[in-house]
Amino acid sequence: MRDKSSPLWVRRLLAALALWFCLGYASHASLTIEGELRQGGLVYGRVTPGAQLRYEGKEIRVSDRGEFVIGFGRNEPSTTGLRIRYADGRKERRQFKVIQREYAIQRIDGLPPRKVEPNAKDLKRIREEAKLIRAARGRDSAYTYFVGGFAWPVVGRISGVYGSQRVLNGKPRRPHYGVDIAAPAGTPVRAPSAGIVSLVHPDMYFTGGTIIVDHGHGLSSVFSHLSEVLVREGQTVTRGDMIAKVGATGRATGPHLHWGVNWFERRLDPQLMAGPMPPAAKQNSR
Ligand code: ZN
Repeated sequence: MRDKSSPLWVRRLLAALALWFCLGYASHASLTIEGELRQGGLVYGRVTPGAQLRYEGKEIRVSDRGEFVIGFGRNEPSTTGLRIRYADGRKERRQFKVIQREYAIQRIDGLPPRKVEPNAKDLKRIREEAKLIRAARGRDSAYTYFVGGFAWPVVGRISGVYGSQRVLNGKPRRPHYGVDIAAPAGTPVRAPSAGIVSLVHPDMYFTGGTIIVDHGHGLSSVFSHLSEVLVREGQTVTRGDMIAKVGATGRATGPHLHWGVNWFERRLDPQLMAGPMPPAAKQNSR
């Protein structure tokens, strides 16, 4: 009854407030992100289920619960954006500012010359192995194992950081796409996050004993230079599972674990995901 007696301006004001609330709610609360907005960083996002997302012209997977990930490459531009199309047809564009990094130069000498300048036969093998790695990295599975975050697979001294420009035996080579952790041969390597083992190789030319674990939505971990592999392809691993042992196989000057994280072909910085290295006293006591 009182409604009918409300002046027109009151009803208009209430209608405007309701509209403002709905639009405001929709545009601010229906997509949230958290993580590292910097080169090599991983961003975890959540969007209203049913929304479609495009990043850099490509559709990206959204889980039934609205979870998604985006990874920024080593040379990601400072501005990048996400196009969102909600289930109700509404469209939105989100811009991100990506912090730019500077990378060091790392010189490594004493590698076997053929590991720096492979011959024709080696190159054939390298190409075949690269195909296997690309296929494993290209998997866009519906798993959402990444929601649990990442822990260090080995505790130890960091002997190589992400992004460094490399000079091997005096020759400029590709940047370092991962983090190196020095540890004695035979040290257990533990799964940093749950996933499905998508590749196992006993001895690749550059990476030696190699495992790739698929964490879902194109996010994968690679572990290299292993002396021993303790899992098989297709196996499900949970965080903390012993999956391999540290070695110096492939192109390495000493025993260490190389851990790389990829979002499809974009190489991410595992150190940003795992946070500070725990103290050595706790080494492998998990
Ligand atoms: Zn490495």
